[in-house]
Amino acid sequence: DGPQIKYGNKNLVEFTKVDVNLLPTVILVGRPNVGKSALFNRLIRRREALVYNTPDDHVTRDFREGIAKLGDLRFRVLDSAGLEMAATSGSILGRTADMTANALARSQFAIFLIDVRAGLHPMDLEVGKWLRRHAPGICTILVMNKSESLDDGAGLLAAAAGEAYELGFGDPIAISAETGLGMAELYESLRPLLEDHMLQVLDGSQENSSCDVEESKLPLQLAIVGRPNVGKSTLLNTLLQENRVLVGPEAGLTRDSVRAQFQFQGRTVYLVDTAGWLQRTKQEKGPASLSIMQSRKSIMRAHVVALVLDAEEIANAKSSMKHAEVVIARRAVEEGRGLVVIVNKMDLLRGRKNSKLYEKVMEAVPEEIQMVIPQVTGIPVVFISALEGRGRISVMRQVIDTYEKWCLRLSTARLNRWLRKVMSRHSWKDQAAQPKIKYFTQVKARPPTFVAFLGGKTQLSNTDLRFLTKSLKEDFDLGGIPIRIMQRSIP
Ligand code: GDP
Ligand code: GDP
Repeated sequence: DGPQIKYGNKNLVEFTKVDVNLLPTVILVGRPNVGKSALFNRLIRRREALVYNTPDDHVTRDFREGIAKLGDLRFRVLDSAGLEMAATSGSILGRTADMTANALARSQFAIFLIDVRAGLHPMDLEVGKWLRRHAPGICTILVMNKSESLDDGAGLLAAAAGEAYELGFGDPIAISAETGLGMAELYESLRPLLEDHMLQVLDGSQENSSCDVEESKLPLQLAIVGRPNVGKSTLLNTLLQENRVLVGPEAGLTRDSVRAQFQFQGRTVYLVDTAGWLQRTKQEKGPASLSIMQSRKSIMRAHVVALVLDAEEIANAKSSMKHAEVVIARRAVEEGRGLVVIVNKMDLLRGRKNSKLYEKVMEAVPEEIQMVIPQVTGIPVVFISALEGRGRISVMRQVIDTYEKWCLRLSTARLNRWLRKVMSRHSWKDQAAQPKIKYFTQVKARPPTFVAFLGGKTQLSNTDLRFLTKSLKEDFDLGGIPIRIMQRSIP
């Protein structure tokens, strides 16, 4: 029997046989210099791109096409080479627009890029109008590129998101084609759309692609990450117990994405990227730097990231977290994943002579995590001994609890009752400094993302955002979840 995996009623093993010509096509659009080529290159990495040269008066325009790889997703990606604008009128010139229109006709999805550093440009509005006119059936994801350059933090990004929303393509995703920031969120947005599309293709029931897919039906994806020898494999075997099921390649994708799954209290949990290292031998374990690279990939595909630390090492060291661990934890939070920290090998600290060390570790780890990730309070920490098989239940409770919070949706009515309360509870030194939030709503889950609607030209400062984030966390028990707040002004 070959590996089998079920998704809905369909057997996804067949997906591996899908011809690349059936893969969904995603076109990159945006005015020149927003970073389309940079994103294209990141998506296809070292793979070959087909370049179509279209001789055109005196210039040669490149039109590139390639197979994109984003986590375990594969799709065709087209770089529209920039919609050429007439400098004077701001309108799109016919010749490039025609070429792009041809490419649009072959695409089911579009990624509309804007440059967050430059702010919204009249040409962006033009591209948006053009896209709506020529590709009304295409599901478009709006991305703010170059967002790594806004180092002033949440405030600027939240304001830029509000501005970008006015393009009419929903809430934007902040990415950096250059550093890779936000790729996990791009993956999270594309994945349900592409999977849905593939199911329709295989069904022969292909209709228009649609932007509404019920993401809550996707099962929990858990990544276990950490440096070599902290006990990840041992923990994994504890979690899988006799329940282990190895399953086949994922949706449409490749043979190397075999994954393991188990049931916990009636829930299916997929273990991301773990099937491979289950069978791995000691010698094959690489250095810590390699574990960072592997974790980056896993983090993208995971909903919840479990970072495993070694208690004995912590007891004997000055700081509880090593560089690699700090990098991994920060990355998980930046990418909007739920994070659970697991301190393993607690059995080594038992016994009278060690009791001080046991306490030291129990105190030091939560403190240090708070210090290295100040923006997310209340990240859960679980102390276990995987070798003794202890801690399976506590680990899974925290993982599921984190996942549920990560998926939480709060109604607008409830949020606005809450908003009135927190605003009256808090006293601003200067009455004029109090932000004029008209209302507050949740636009997205996984992770929970909110929009504050502001009256007139006011803006939320970083202090306001920190205050709102902290209050949301406390009042709705969202500890450990990287929540986001965007702002938008209304007249
Ligand atoms: P295109 O015309 O839309 O294809 O844009 P390019 O990909 O050629 O990028 C235009 C410029 O923006 C280049 O100088 C890139 O190096 C730069 N760029 C692209 N992506 C990013 C990013 O994420 N961050 C920053 N800071 N610069 C970027
Ligand atoms: P990985 O590289 O993170 O997958 O680590 P392994 O699971 O292979 O574990 C590395 C070593 O630590 C092995 O010798 C394990 O037996 C040991 N180990 C794992 N968990 C525990 C634990 O809870 N207590 C003790 N004392 N040793 C453990």
